[in-house]
Amino acid sequence: MAVLVLDKRKKPLMPCSEKRARLLLERGRAVVHRMRPFTIRLKDRTVEESVLQPIQIKIDPGSKTTGVTVIREDDSDPEHQQVVMLMEIEHRGQQIRENLTQRRAFRRRRRGQLRHRASRFNNRTRPRGWLAPSLQHRVDTTMAWVNRLCRLAPVTGIIMERVRFDMQTMENPEISGVEYQQGTLHGYEVREYLLEKWQRCCAYCGARNVPLEIDHIHPQSRGGSDRVSNLTLACRDCNQAKGNQPVEVFLADDPKRLQRIKAQAKAPLKDAAAVNSTRWALFRQLQATGLPVITSSGGRTKYNRQRLGIPKTHALDAACVGPVTAITHWNVPTLTVRATGRGSYQRTRLNRFGFPRGYLMRQKQVKGFQTGDLVQANVPTGKKAGTYQGRVAIRATGSFNIQTREGVVQGISHRHCRLLQRADGYGYALQPKPTQEDATRAA
Ligand SMILES: [Zn+2]
Repeated sequence: MAVLVLDKRKKPLMPCSEKRARLLLERGRAVVHRMRPFTIRLKDRTVEESVLQPIQIKIDPGSKTTGVTVIREDDSDPEHQQVVMLMEIEHRGQQIRENLTQRRAFRRRRRGQLRHRASRFNNRTRPRGWLAPSLQHRVDTTMAWVNRLCRLAPVTGIIMERVRFDMQTMENPEISGVEYQQGTLHGYEVREYLLEKWQRCCAYCGARNVPLEIDHIHPQSRGGSDRVSNLTLACRDCNQAKGNQPVEVFLADDPKRLQRIKAQAKAPLKDAAAVNSTRWALFRQLQATGLPVITSSGGRTKYNRQRLGIPKTHALDAACVGPVTAITHWNVPTLTVRATGRGSYQRTRLNRFGFPRGYLMRQKQVKGFQTGDLVQANVPTGKKAGTYQGRVAIRATGSFNIQTREGVVQGISHRHCRLLQRADGYGYALQPKPTQEDATRAA
């Protein structure tokens, strides 16, 4: 994994290799600026006297995890790309949702205790483009990381996966004929389109989570066309059973389903159905940064990934977003960034009935440490003797817990702890690089 580099005025320079960073640190030419992602600061260089190459941030937004990859473009060909950093942001939308639901329930219970309460006016409106807090959080954390990476690397542009499939590439798919074969970009877009249109299940039996094949509703051998309006998805069994029968014969004893398939095949998928509000909100905010934003589709990502033989992870998917002909240096560890929040505003801990169970401290710091700080503890003697590095959870007693890679170590005194990086609302972990096995399986 490359190391991010800043100049002496904290302006971003080109990232360097781990080996070079080690040499610079050993010779005293650089200092550690940040632990995660690892960033060094040169003491004797400014950005004016350095050569910068184009660097792009690539984003694959997901509901639970967003893949973010920083790549360096080849000077002569921007489609030849070298991975600088792989990153996965784990969102906490579900937790936010649960907390808000719980708060609503508790409030309702408290209000219900009053004998009479005049009803409130229905005076609440939502501004245009409003997103639920759990969804807004996805946009906010992704933007926070884009902005942070722009401060740590000389980013010249952003590429994001905005839609699952590209209507433009298919040029009004319901009308024009299309080649649906696997292995072409076109084929991937059509597949993604069909998955969205037929809700990712077999049209004939409704099976989910099974491999789906493309089926001609009116069989090809009887003159059926390759238009998308004649294509549907079927599981292996249904596809085999149907063979080259016309759909009317195959579904003779299920007229309801026959009618529904015929109606759905004719209806073109509305643009709006494929558009995800969170992705659009993210796209608009990315545009507001002033950097050029290129958008791409999920079909193209899949096409790139399978063509280049790259395993499927969120971060590597992000690396495959957009126009790419070659990717190098992708076999590196991934930095997992888990959104943890910055603690609870609520001071009273409640049990599941809403009764108080305990109280949190007023102050967030104990002996200069805060929950979420990255610390290193050197315990010289005793049962817990050793060196531990990780996220600290503070206790009023000054006896802390440290979340290390191997697990939680309890009861470490604050006296043995040394601060490495302040809590910033994220927990960090390095995932090992994909094994050779993963790589060959993907290819
Ligand atoms: Zn089926």
